[in-house]
Amino acid sequence: MSGKIWFVGAGPGDPDLITVKGRRLLEESGAILYAGSLVDQAATRYAPAGCEIRDSKDMTLDEMTGWLLDQAIRHATVVRLQTGDPGLYGALIEMTRPLTAAGIDWAVVPGVSSAMASVAAAGETLTLPEVTQTVILTRVAGRTPMPEGEDLEALACHHCTLCIYLSITLLHEVTRALRAAGWAEDAPILVVQKASWPGEEKIIRGTLADIKGKCQAEKVGSQAMIVASPTLGAAHWKDLARSKLYDPAFTHRFRRAIDHHANQDPENTHE
Ligand code: SAH
Repeated sequence: MSGKIWFVGAGPGDPDLITVKGRRLLEESGAILYAGSLVDQAATRYAPAGCEIRDSKDMTLDEMTGWLLDQAIRHATVVRLQTGDPGLYGALIEMTRPLTAAGIDWAVVPGVSSAMASVAAAGETLTLPEVTQTVILTRVAGRTPMPEGEDLEALACHHCTLCIYLSITLLHEVTRALRAAGWAEDAPILVVQKASWPGEEKIIRGTLADIKGKCQAEKVGSQAMIVASPTLGAAHWKDLARSKLYDPAFTHRFRRAIDHHANQDPENTHE
């Protein structure tokens, strides 16, 4: 009987931001294959004595699946540890298909993605009532081309929150696309490098006009999230529409409104 391979989201970097389930699996694992420098701390902190730990940095996809298959013959629990959430830019399906073909059991444990960690680090919000209720997680084309209809210029036309992964070296292309989509020169842009990393996190706040220069000055050229959003800076706005959820005149499942004529929004009962 071979073991099970778990694709675990390690979170954005701070080892405390892994899920309880992810940590338990690491503590039980016989072998861990981790993805690069951002997650080695979680791997080494929670792995049991004698656990086989391998960095996948220099491995091809075939070598990785080969290694995982080999370990699954020897251990009941094998972990593939990935940054953030495994389902975002994680080559998950490329790795799971050969496992399924080989009859090996596998499952995914989600993780805190770096977009969430970056926004949290800056004390910002992804959504704000009457400002934007939509978040797009995307990237610009690098070696991986963007599918039709998904170029940043088209997505930016929504003027919602954009969390842009894998694109810090292409910041010129990001700013070009936002301008082409009609974003103002003073539109706020947030860049966070190594979000949640103790002692290493850098938070750069700028505008469409100056964010590139600020990132250059701060030498932020890798491992960074770009957030463009009309919500940025809302903590300092004079006028702010209040969330209906906490409005005393708004009824939801767990609280009756003071004013019984108040509007009811059944969609909002779980927020
Ligand atoms: N699965 C990961 C993303 C992997 S792609 C996730 O859910 O976060 C790698 C990109 O993620 C980087 O180019 C960068 O844009 C972003 N990233 C990963 N960790 C980060 C961190 N701690 N701070 C800021 N951005 C990060």
